[in-house]
Amino acid sequence: MAEQRELVIAIDGPAGAGKSTVAQMVAQKLKYLYLDTGAMYRAVTYLVVKRGVNPDDEDAVTETARQADIELKCNVDGSGKPRVFVNGEEITDKIRTREISNLVSPLSAIASVRSILVDQQRKLAAGGKVVLDGRDIGTVVLPNADVKIFLTASSEERARRRLKDLEKLGEKADLQELLAEIEARDKRDSTRDVAPLKVADGGIVVDTDSLTIEQVVGKILDICSAKN
Ligand code: C5P
Repeated sequence: MAEQRELVIAIDGPAGAGKSTVAQMVAQKLKYLYLDTGAMYRAVTYLVVKRGVNPDDEDAVTETARQADIELKCNVDGSGKPRVFVNGEEITDKIRTREISNLVSPLSAIASVRSILVDQQRKLAAGGKVVLDGRDIGTVVLPNADVKIFLTASSEERARRRLKDLEKLGEKADLQELLAEIEARDKRDSTRDVAPLKVADGGIVVDTDSLTIEQVVGKILDICSAKN
């Protein structure tokens, strides 16, 4: 068999498109590192809330980002949910609450916060054999990534998925409210000045509405094979 090239795979898209599940499965199949960049923005947001920092005070939020020692730990064999730590505290589930989900988007629009996290992401991806998911991986963080996927789904489908996720965490939610929150977050993420959410040059759009997770993963793996 021909030698497989070591790829850098970028998966971007709106909230609830299934990026993290799909990215994790692709990484596991290829035995690559999986990097959830949204978890990094969530970790900074968690620290801002925990320390009572005013989210409108950009300098204080930036300082908090600078002081955040974020660790993303995958199982060595790539299986299982990656665990997230900030300054030694495990925050894997704590960063998935509605409070954090609604606050992360305005904080991640701060350019100085982005530049701190983007630097870290580039360093973590420098070795190759990595799958990153986020909003700006193919457009800003790694525009030269070998594979650039834009994963999307209708907002209704994404709200239904989010409801299921929250129920698993024991949080009650209303589907219509979640839909409004998802649409508000999409709007903020795609209209912000720095690194807005959009399809990268050379990016491939994958609409997941009528596909199973396995089909989406299969599609992405086919795209990766074609690069080899
Ligand atoms: O992917 P996830 O929903 O966990 O991301 C949370 C938020 O972090 C997004 O709504 C977006 O505001 C921000 N984000 C970002 N750039 C990334 C990843 C996430 O701005 N690369």
